[in-house]
Amino acid sequence: MSRAYNFSAGPAMVPEAVLQQAQEELLDWQGSGMSVMEMSHRGKEYMSIATQAEADLRELMAIPENYKVLFLQGGASSQFAMVPLNLLGDKKTADYFNTGQWSKKAIAEAKRYCDVNLVASSEAENFCTIPDTANWNLNADAAYVHYTPNETIGGLEFQEIPEVGDVPLVADFSSTILSRPLDVSRYGIIYAGTQKNIGPAGMAVVIVREDLLGNAGDSTPAMFNYATHAKADSMYNTPPTYTWYFAGLVFKWLKQQGGLEAMAKINQGKAQALYNAIDTSDFYANPVDPRYRSWMNIPFTLADDGLNDTFLSEAKAANLVTLKGHRSVGGMRASIYNAMPEAGVQALIAFMKDFEQRKA
Ligand code: PMP
Repeated sequence: MSRAYNFSAGPAMVPEAVLQQAQEELLDWQGSGMSVMEMSHRGKEYMSIATQAEADLRELMAIPENYKVLFLQGGASSQFAMVPLNLLGDKKTADYFNTGQWSKKAIAEAKRYCDVNLVASSEAENFCTIPDTANWNLNADAAYVHYTPNETIGGLEFQEIPEVGDVPLVADFSSTILSRPLDVSRYGIIYAGTQKNIGPAGMAVVIVREDLLGNAGDSTPAMFNYATHAKADSMYNTPPTYTWYFAGLVFKWLKQQGGLEAMAKINQGKAQALYNAIDTSDFYANPVDPRYRSWMNIPFTLADDGLNDTFLSEAKAANLVTLKGHRSVGGMRASIYNAMPEAGVQALIAFMKDFEQRKA
């Protein structure tokens, strides 16, 4: 068997050791005589799996006690609606940063429920930078401020938490959660789809400050009300049991790697190596403001677009797959989440150098 270095933006690579453990436990989880997939979510065995996963995530991210952790269906996209449904209360307006395609989607969904005040937008700069703090237009009366810390498509990442005063800060961490330590206490809500840095698709992890619960209007569907899930420990209905279990295996793996401090060092090193390879070449280019380049998603173009297909097919033959850029950006994109080994990034860099030498 030969496993590829898979640079997909998501679903993405998961650690091989975790896949192996899941395989070992697939038919019979720890002597229970059944697969995790076959367990009642209310049974003793599954409850222990779910509780342990939450405890490990809390430890990894140092989540304060006044935050609930929810494991919900619907991916990150459902959160685009759940955030306004749960946080607006009597307010009519919310603040949004517009820094890329995922910000735009969140904004479009919020507009169904409220007026959106744009704090700042880099759309005119092709989403290649983050507007200066001095030009931010924050509204003290907004119900919350939403931003996308890492834009998966553009490869743009906030390197600091935005300073927004007393208004609750809400963040879509889908493509950068667990990549480095984070001060959770600065946030009202953190949410993330699981299929990039956590595990399989089909779930969102939502970390919500307790005082923000209970503000959804009566017409909010029960499944879209955070309070429903918080009260039931995410077992109001049948949760995505296998994905939750698998996330727990990834959390344990991250702890074994030395936690988020250790991951930050590795991730920064991987990203720097790849950016350095791009910047020192006249053949490859990355358009993003160097101050805000993503550690997780690295788009790059070739000097000659006509070579894109050859690049992709030769890369594939070298076991480097899913490098095609998003259709809205073109070129290539290397997504290098926690589970992408340093050796994978080094293999990509070596391939890029060799390709350049032969084709430039
Ligand atoms: N937000 C960001 C930043 C993303 O990258 C994605 C998925 N690529 C989403 C939201 C949507 O996630 P989902 O498919 O889980 O709804």
